[in-house]
Amino acid sequence: MPQPETVPVFIGGEWQASSATDTSPVYNPSDGTQIAATPMGDATEVGRAIEAAHAAFPEWAETPAVDRARVLFAFKQLLEDHFEELSQIVTREHGKTLEESRGSVRRGIEVVEFACGAPSLLMGESLENIARGIDCDTIRQPLGVSVAISPFNFPVMVPLWTLPVAIACGNTFVLKPSEKVPLSAIRMIELLEEAGCPKGVVNLVHGGKGAVDTLLTHPDVRTVSFVGSTPIAKYVYETATRAGKRVQSAGGAKNYMIVLPDADVDSTIDAVMGSAYGCAGERCMAGSVLVCAEDAGSRFLDPLSDAARKMRVGPTDRDPDSQMGAVVTRQHLESLHASIEEGLREGAELFVDGRDVKVEGAPDGFYLGPTVFDKVQPNMSIARNELFGPVLSVMHTDDLQGAVERCNNSGFGNAAVLFTSSGAAARTFRHHVNAGMVGINVGVPAPMAFFPFSGWNNSFFGDLHVQGHEGVSFFTRQKVTINRWIDTKRYF
Ligand code: NAD
Repeated sequence: MPQPETVPVFIGGEWQASSATDTSPVYNPSDGTQIAATPMGDATEVGRAIEAAHAAFPEWAETPAVDRARVLFAFKQLLEDHFEELSQIVTREHGKTLEESRGSVRRGIEVVEFACGAPSLLMGESLENIARGIDCDTIRQPLGVSVAISPFNFPVMVPLWTLPVAIACGNTFVLKPSEKVPLSAIRMIELLEEAGCPKGVVNLVHGGKGAVDTLLTHPDVRTVSFVGSTPIAKYVYETATRAGKRVQSAGGAKNYMIVLPDADVDSTIDAVMGSAYGCAGERCMAGSVLVCAEDAGSRFLDPLSDAARKMRVGPTDRDPDSQMGAVVTRQHLESLHASIEEGLREGAELFVDGRDVKVEGAPDGFYLGPTVFDKVQPNMSIARNELFGPVLSVMHTDDLQGAVERCNNSGFGNAAVLFTSSGAAARTFRHHVNAGMVGINVGVPAPMAFFPFSGWNNSFFGDLHVQGHEGVSFFTRQKVTINRWIDTKRYF
């Protein structure tokens, strides 16, 4: 059998074979076959990419914002032209349904559209006569080399959270995608090259901890954007800030969905299903805990289990009717099985068991069906840990306050959702809940490109989030000028 191809790096505008000897396998989760290998780049190779970005910075920073934006307009058009192809690559290496891939590519394109507004986004402020005859203004300038380290679960969207904004602001860029899903990033960078992005402005490297450590500490790197699990996000934040970098580091999550008995049943069940099982639960915005407050369980549990049992799990790369795909690797599937065993040992009730799911024609795919645990207690491991799979934990509380307290004690703070028809309950929830992104009667409250992706607590380390004006602030620094011109000629 031919060996799967080892993917290249892109340094200084050239596609090259990596010098790394170690590789990591890339799978098609739908059937378990290995489709590529990712080279695990070392400090020398990553250093070369940073140096290429550093060398390209002065010219790119001097390029007028309107010309930088034109590269992004061309990139946006190429992303549209290759929308279907990119979505298929995401499905092939990640396993999510084509519809989910399309949705995520669309979200990424929206950030490119936002960044096309660079000339307006970069405008400063000014005030005349801050004192008699003295004016003050601010301008925004780029910082230098920006690096981004991304997770496996959104191979196009997460790199696009930062790449277009960083370069629109005049920075140059090094991307290190997850070693599990390098193919989408490669196709995307090819399109950026075709869009006319100058050599060295964007570079692509691969690897694991060794590559990341170089990105976090290299003296020529100015900003670090990380998205991944909480322990690594914390490590990245601590290591890179210690090395003097500006850092935004997004971590994992345990998102609570709370349902009150007055919520609409059909739309709530739809939203809960999408939230818990969309992308096979491999989403930082996945709803992984459902708290039935008051006696909501009596109205919602049966329809929920019916919907979970009916969900069609299948090979998303070849069966368009699949509603949920496989998880990313066999190793991840095994860790989900272990978490389910642990939940049972701790006394939770397995209401819907997804472990016996059978997918015809794909015996080696990494499948777990929708799984529901009932009677979960906050101290159980399935309630405390991010499982990152299609496993929903159901809890019960006497009232809304008790449900919000459980959510607020989770330690994470990405998203929290309430389903209700009461405006007063919704307002109280929004005010008291300790999470950065709140949904009222929507399953996954992921903000669009012009709003910040606003995780809190152990879901985010740093100050300025990705997307929106916070993204622009992250990738620029302000210069304040106080101007005084003595009018000795008395012009007026
Ligand atoms: P991960 O933390 O395993 O890996 C993320 C990145 O870090 C990858 O590029 C990986 O190569 C690198 N990495 C892995 N081990 C490392 C180490 N020891 N030192 C330095 N770098 C290392 O995460 P994942 O499994 O790829 O992605 C899933 C996680 O990402 C989940 O926890 C999910 O919640 C989180 N996530 C968060 C957000 C958010 O916005 N908060 C968005 C998407 C995903």
